[in-house]
Amino acid sequence: MSPARAGPPVPKASTDSVHGHDYFDVETGAFRVPLYLTTIFEHPDRRTGVSRKSDRGFEQKYSREENPTVRGFEKVVAKLEKSEDALAFSSGMAGIASVYLSALSHGDTVVISKESYGTTQDLALNLGKFGVKTVLAGPDTEDFLQKIRPGVTLVLLETITNPLVRVVDIPAITKRCKEVGARVVVDNTFATPLLYRPLDRGAWLSVHSVTKYIGGHNDVVGGAVALNDPVDLTELWDFRRRLGTIMGPFEAFLALRGVATLKARFDVQCKSALALAEFLADHPKVEAVYYPGLRDNQYHKTADRLFLEKGVYGGVLSFKVKGGKAKAFDVLKRIRLVKPSPSLGGTESLLTSPITSASKTMSPAIRKELGITENLLRLSLGLEDEEDLQADLDQALR
Ligand code: PLP
Repeated sequence: MSPARAGPPVPKASTDSVHGHDYFDVETGAFRVPLYLTTIFEHPDRRTGVSRKSDRGFEQKYSREENPTVRGFEKVVAKLEKSEDALAFSSGMAGIASVYLSALSHGDTVVISKESYGTTQDLALNLGKFGVKTVLAGPDTEDFLQKIRPGVTLVLLETITNPLVRVVDIPAITKRCKEVGARVVVDNTFATPLLYRPLDRGAWLSVHSVTKYIGGHNDVVGGAVALNDPVDLTELWDFRRRLGTIMGPFEAFLALRGVATLKARFDVQCKSALALAEFLADHPKVEAVYYPGLRDNQYHKTADRLFLEKGVYGGVLSFKVKGGKAKAFDVLKRIRLVKPSPSLGGTESLLTSPITSASKTMSPAIRKELGITENLLRLSLGLEDEEDLQADLDQALR
């Protein structure tokens, strides 16, 4: 018997992020996805008399529904998440809002991580006026397991929480959801598909703020949702069409260019984050550092068990400055190279006070329970030299 011939190797994430759009124009030889800055397409196709369809069978007639540049980007996201398909949105919140509206009905109960992005919670709580009940759970696994009971329809959690960078046991929570028939949505923005692929571990959807690591250059606002089920895809696609929440073609063009360097950027950012976390942990002006890469961090072991790359823990860390709010805000004033700004995951390193940004809309009681204090600062590492960043933080803390 002849030995089985090995198939072509399955491309790694860094290869998919460059080539995953699969675009090739036989006519011109172009192999980069062009910017289709058009709202309209011939409809019906005058050669055939019927509608043109995109590769996945949706009508290609109007850019609020389907656009070839957006489609190229969606294919890359699907390859990275190893999902059947993906949809791109005009922002992370546009994606999350579209998911809520397509998945939830009057009388449903949704469980959301207490430490999820403030606006994600805020929007869910606002759905109360349409008869959707929101229960806040977490920040730790046990509380999720307790609150996910029969009758819960949807559960939304984040792979790495914001701002205290906790890592919950998503497979254990997903298992509990299966037992009670709830669907799991994982916001994978902080981890990126390089560290975690929620659908491989039983989640229903993986959601991204493309504005962060996937776009990666602090120059594009976008969102994406990866999923496997074709019926759910059609349902969500239809909601995107009704709501008009699709990503714009120019944003998709930028996102395609950004995602091509995801692995190279993320490697540097995670390496700097670990180095800076270690530096800050020893700093006399710092009260505490939160980063799952630190050996004594409460979530270090869970991160080691869940994350796909060994010794890599993400590009965001938080720390508390000794001396309270005034001292923390002083650091925000004195910082030079690092910019005081609320986003994350881009080329520039950014420092923010979560009580004025991601956690602003949280109730003071929840902030207190989570430990989101006035002296807490969140640092997102960019691509600057690690020693320059360290020197900047050191001078700002003095
Ligand atoms: N999810 C997470 C984890 C976020 O941090 C954010 C924004 O900061 C969002 C979703 C919302 O994304 P966008 O700002 O692209 O709407």
